[in-house]
Amino acid sequence: MTAPENRVTLRDQFGRGIEYLRISVTDRCNFRCQYCMPLEGLPWLPKAEILRYEEITEVVRQLAPLGLRRIRLTGGEPTIRPQLVELVRMLRAVPGVEDIALSTNGVKLPEMAGPLAEAGLDRVNISADSLRADRVVAIARRDLGFDLVRAAGAAQAAGLHPIKVNVVVMRGVNDDEIADFAALTRDHPWHVRFIELMPVGDLRELTWEHVVPTAEVLERVSAIGALADDAGPSRGNGPARYYRLPDAAGTIGVITPMTHTYCASCNRVRLTADGRLRTCLFGDHEVLLRDALRRGDPLEPLFRKALEEKPKEHQLLQMQVGGLRALSEVGG
Ligand code: SAM
Ligand code: SF4
Repeated sequence: MTAPENRVTLRDQFGRGIEYLRISVTDRCNFRCQYCMPLEGLPWLPKAEILRYEEITEVVRQLAPLGLRRIRLTGGEPTIRPQLVELVRMLRAVPGVEDIALSTNGVKLPEMAGPLAEAGLDRVNISADSLRADRVVAIARRDLGFDLVRAAGAAQAAGLHPIKVNVVVMRGVNDDEIADFAALTRDHPWHVRFIELMPVGDLRELTWEHVVPTAEVLERVSAIGALADDAGPSRGNGPARYYRLPDAAGTIGVITPMTHTYCASCNRVRLTADGRLRTCLFGDHEVLLRDALRRGDPLEPLFRKALEEKPKEHQLLQMQVGGLRALSEVGG
């Protein structure tokens, strides 16, 4: 069901309605992906600063009447926060919320997909950078037995739909698996999306030379079959473009933060684990909601203040490698 346009009463200075909230439930993670988190971890947020599930739900309850319809739970790794299933259940009960999604590294999906779906989760995005066990460990720098086909299979069996697989492509690291990932879509109804590596956080060994432009990704996928444009309705409202191999069950998507910006159609804001509303993934525009929330003050004035400051577009392309906060810190 689509909300009437006039339900979106929260608009930024450029007229973009905000109907999509990404919620980071934790800054911690059981992986240490090379492109996201240093091996030794990050200075974790103190527990007292992290929003409780009741507080997260209250933010959503106050945003929903202003037009919020879709939610994504992310992190850090959301599935390592205890009782995540309960949060899904609480959010599902908020009137006006139509769609609840999860971004996960998939490690815990085999046991959690069923309970999450039963609590009201609609869909899942699974990050997977390799189909080879030894390489998964080399990229994630943790050996937790992740296997994409098993994780996505569990999500599918639980009825989560659609299932999207996010692959960060890195030259010389996993770019020789582009065709293997694409080939998965022949038999599985999954949406495999190739993401350009972004220069955020402390990438250490990764540099601009590891960025594989999307045009090159598509060229390599075309080597295994002709790609047709695919603009189906289930493709979401995000920044991806989609294609399909002949007779394939699933689709192939590309997300191009480095070579294109998609800010003009940006309809999202982020809630950090410590209760800050961020209106752009990059840059430092954030408004602290936590104190007002804990005092019991209404949040709408703060929502409006945050939106007034939402930048027109991000400055990523002008920035050097490093110097920006890691996606795990801002709820990527
Ligand atoms: N832990 C969950 C996961 O990995 O899906 C959710 C949080 S993670 C920060 C969200 C997404 O950001 C993942 O798909 C990950 O691959 C992507 N990501 C993190 N750092 C990135 C980078 N430097 N460049 C491109 N994508 C990145
Ligand atoms: Fe963890 Fe996700 Fe960052 Fe990997 S990309 S370290 S799984 S938060």
